[in-house]
Amino acid sequence: MAYDSENIFAKILRGEIPNQTVYEDDGILAFHDIAPKTPVHVLVIPKGAYVDMDDFTANAPAEVISDFFRKSGQIARDLGVVEGGYRIVTNNGENAGQIVPHFHIHIMGGQRIEEGSM
Ligand code: 5GP
Repeated sequence: MAYDSENIFAKILRGEIPNQTVYEDDGILAFHDIAPKTPVHVLVIPKGAYVDMDDFTANAPAEVISDFFRKSGQIARDLGVVEGGYRIVTNNGENAGQIVPHFHIHIMGGQRIEEGSM
């Protein structure tokens, strides 16, 4: 699937839609999900134009991929969810129910997540 530069997260990256930023640098942006499913629900996105996990892992340079996941781990630490445990989710494509076609991971924590609830 070709990248659609009018998707919501592309607009957030361009500053056209506001967000509650948790962390930002040259390569990534982390912000609170607009409809949190857990007490802590943060989305982490690369600034590059990647549609989904498949596109990101196939086409992003290795250092961009490693940087993304290393920093996501640090963001989880900074959010304070490591001790109690947290979940990382990424929805890839239609069958997974991906809504926004810009690669992102969900960091979810702050409560026990029952199996099959999300
Ligand atoms: P997915 O594509 O993985 O299914 O989920 C997209 C996520 O983006 C959802 O959890 C949804 O609540 C969140 N979301 C959708 N639109 C916005 C928005 O405009 N701002 C923020 N912060 N989150 C959004």
